[in-house]
Amino acid sequence: MLLGVCGWPVAHSRSPAMHNAALAAAGLRDWRYLHLPLPPELFAETVRALPAAGFRGVNVTIPHKEAAIALADTASDAARAIGAANTLTFEDGAIEAENTDWTGLLDVLPDPAGRTALVLGAGGAARAAVYALLRANAAEVAVWNRTPERARALARSLGARAVERPEVADIVVNCTSVGLAEPESTFKALPLQADDWGVGSCVVDMVYREGETKLLEAARTRGAAVIGGLEILIAQGAASFERWTGRSAPRQAMREAVGANATT
Ligand code: NAP
Repeated sequence: MLLGVCGWPVAHSRSPAMHNAALAAAGLRDWRYLHLPLPPELFAETVRALPAAGFRGVNVTIPHKEAAIALADTASDAARAIGAANTLTFEDGAIEAENTDWTGLLDVLPDPAGRTALVLGAGGAARAAVYALLRANAAEVAVWNRTPERARALARSLGARAVERPEVADIVVNCTSVGLAEPESTFKALPLQADDWGVGSCVVDMVYREGETKLLEAARTRGAAVIGGLEILIAQGAASFERWTGRSAPRQAMREAVGANATT
């Protein structure tokens, strides 16, 4: 049985290692998880051909998450509301779309009920984060984005509040790609005041890279709880794994495969 991740020009580089470690730990010897780089113009026709080629499902990443919803025969309510899917399952000739980014975030986040939240970004990851925080009864969810019209559109469609400048909040979730390519420019690209964080606040960075991001480094220094993108990668991957295989995901094997440690 085959699984994979579709992205372009590169897919999540750590997903194949993480899922193949999980498949091995679960004793699923005939299963393999492959990297499937697909340009947008080939996405739909290739994915439709995958079940006949022995695929049980695929993860979908940038830039295909919206196209995955359009392609699917059925989509969960959450995937439809978010407008993006990261998990496709091939079931009895149908393509089913799910979004496990939002459940992955809630899996690793301290209970957001009654707490204020600030989401940075307005792409697919931000939509999943806003949806998750609202579903978990955050007291208020503010959205800031470099391109303000996109923050306003996101906030309108999901019931959050767009802000022109980042505001102080109990929970901050970075859903921009800032911090990945040029970590030193993090605080130039994101107009944040690290002094706004302290004991009791929680800062989440969806970005994952070797070592801690500058955002999490600064938050940790000020006493905030920090959660790194690898934790969310593992949590969303575990939910996809369980959906495809019907088995409980071996998270420790996944954690070791992506090099996550206990503190990020
Ligand atoms: P996306 O749809 O391409 O959105 C990118 C976002 O980043 C947009 O809001 C964009 O703002 C903002 N941005 C990019 N460069 C910026 C800069 N220099 N300054 C300020 N803002 C900037 O991507 P996505 O799918 O939402 O993913 C966002 C990040 O989350 C990526 O790094 C991705 O790898 C990560 N992610 C991680 C996980 C996980 O499991 N850990 C899951 C999903 C995503 P504009 O609208 O102004 O362009």
